[in-house]
Parts: sequence; structure tokens; C-alpha cells
Amino acid sequence: MKDFEYFAPKTPDEALSLLSQYKGEAKIVAGCQSMLVVMRQGLLAPEYVVDIKGVSALDYMTYDEREGLRIGALTTHRTIETSPFIQKHLRVLSEMERNLATIQTRNWGTIGGNLCHGDPAGDPAPILIALDAKLKLKSLSGERIVAMEGFSKDMLEVDLEPDEMLIEIQVPTPRPHTGVAHEKLMVMQGDAGIVGAAVSIALRPGDDVCEDARIVLSNAASIPLRAKEAERCLVGKVINEDLLTEAGKVASKEADPSSDVHASAEYRREMVEVFVKRAAKRALQLAKQS
Ligand SMILES: Cc1cc2nc3c(=O)[nH]c(=O)nc-3n(C[C@H](O)[C@H](O)[C@H](O)COP(=O)(O)OP(=O)(O)OC[C@H]3O[C@@H](n4cnc5c(N)ncnc54)[C@H](O)[C@@H]3O)c2cc1C
Repeated sequence: MKDFEYFAPKTPDEALSLLSQYKGEAKIVAGCQSMLVVMRQGLLAPEYVVDIKGVSALDYMTYDEREGLRIGALTTHRTIETSPFIQKHLRVLSEMERNLATIQTRNWGTIGGNLCHGDPAGDPAPILIALDAKLKLKSLSGERIVAMEGFSKDMLEVDLEPDEMLIEIQVPTPRPHTGVAHEKLMVMQGDAGIVGAAVSIALRPGDDVCEDARIVLSNAASIPLRAKEAERCLVGKVINEDLLTEAGKVASKEADPSSDVHASAEYRREMVEVFVKRAAKRALQLAKQS
């Protein structure tokens, strides 16, 4: 690994000043779990490393009915997994975290690092897209809020300027009668998903017509992929078993997976069909119960 100069700022502004001063030559590390791999593989060789793990102001979660949930970028996976509030109100996030890697990884890895790494196999992004989350990004020249959907641009590429930092993830309160579920295909508990599917379904009270559906796939394209045609199979209808099967089939056609040592593209496509149906079925049950 190439030598680099190391900084450990204590506040967001100190971190942003360093990113501005060494714009294009500095990289942030948070938990450093993914960055270490990328740097050891020689894919990135920053001159300056800005370690934000000690920026405690970015390690928080707050909730307000109107504003929804706010998660600071440095919040660890384990904090999200074990939060009583998340377990009660956004259970899908806590369930997803429980299946993400090992407890050691979850204890140190951050939600912000996970999203900014831009791995299409990442588990949080599809759920946050299904929940219509937004991201607050900041540089010395100002702030911007972007949708989680669209933040990933390509494999390991996200919509971040070199002097910008992810500050916060903003998750709106799901509307009533909404169910959200996540399913991923793992060879062993905690493995990265061969494929995954996050599904959100909102029902009209009274007649259970599907008013809104979001279906988002992981590891089925170079970015977390919204299967919009599959969503259209469900919206405006009373969802039954046949429609769930249809949505799975359509999503598998929309997927654009690659082959690698873990699975062929063809197998991934077949599993998208299975896992979309499974997640949609559970989301539907949850929507009916809520
Ligand atoms: C063994 C192992 C198994 C794993 N399994 C899974 C899995 O099953 N599912 C899954 O989703 N993930 C998995 N991960 C990923 C892990 O959960 C972490 O989320 C991930 O490593 C990134 O978090 P980090 O805090 O270490 O980020 P880092 O490695 O420090 O940073 C990653 C990237 O994000 C950038 N970055 C970090 N924070 C910010 C910020 N606030 N603003 C701007 N840029 C930022 C960095 O510059 C870098 O480009 C696994 C990791 C390991 C090591």
C-alpha cells in the first residue's frame, strides 16, 4: 500500500476543511473496512487520509413524526440493528442489519461508509430507496439533499464531489398501511447477498388496493436497481398470488446481473424472481397488519 498522510479531525468542519484543502487527493475513511480493501488492491491510493471515526457529532439517530428518522453518517450497523426505536417502527432496517456480515463488522462499519462505498451488493441502499430516503451532503461551500435513489452512479461510484461528505440519512415516516420487507440470498448467515430484494407496499385502507409499490434489487446490476415495471404489476390492484409471481418474473427481466465466482448471471436472474416474490409477499402481509 502506498504511504499517505493521516488526519483524525474531531468535528465535521475540520474534516470538510481538510477535504477542501486537499481536494481530489484526500479520501475519507470511517470504519475503513471497505477502504482498506480498495487501497490494498491498489484501486485507490490517496495522498491524504481523513479518518472521521472520531467525529462524534455524526454518530446519532433522532426521530420526529413529521421529520421522520435521521441517522448520522457515522452510526454503526450495530447501533441501527439494536435500536429499540428501529426495532419497533422500522423493523426492516434492524432485520437487514442482523443479516449484514458478522457482529464484529457491524460493530465498526458505518452506514455512511456503506452507502458511499457504492457496492451494488450493499444491503442498506435498496431498503433506503424503498423507504424513499434522502441524503444530506455537505462541503465548505454548502449543503445539498439528494435522493438515495440515484446516489449510486455505477459500481463503486456515487454522487459525491471530492470535497463533500455524507452527513445524514433522512428516512420519512412511512404512510399508514405500508409494509416493507427485505430478503437476500446468502450461502451462510451474514454473507453478502448473491442477490437481494427490498419491497415496500402501501395499501388503500378499506379495499386493500395497492396504492404504491417500490421494488429495489441488490447485486442484480451495477447499482441498486429499482424494478419499475415490476412495481407497475402491483399498483392499482388488489395483490394476489398470481400478481406476486408476475412481479417476480418481470423484475428478473429488468435485472442486469453479472457473473462472478459466487453465481452466474443466469442464476442471479432466477433468484431475483424468487426473492422479489418472497419480499413482496411479506411486505403485503405487513401492510395488511399495519
Ligand atoms: C467481512 C465483511 C463483510 C461485509 N458484508 C457485508 C454485507 O453482507 N452487506 C453489506 O451491505 N455490507 C457488508 N460489508 C460492508 C460493511 O458493512 C461496511 O458498511 C463497509 O465496509 C463500509 O463501512 P466503513 O464505515 O468501513 O466505510 P469505509 O471503508 O471507511 O469507507 C467506504 C467508502 O465510503 C467513503 N465514506 C465513508 N464515510 C463517508 C462519509 N461520511 N462521507 C463521504 N464518504 C464517506 C470512503 O471514502 C470510502 O470511499 C462487509 C464488510 C466486511 C469487511
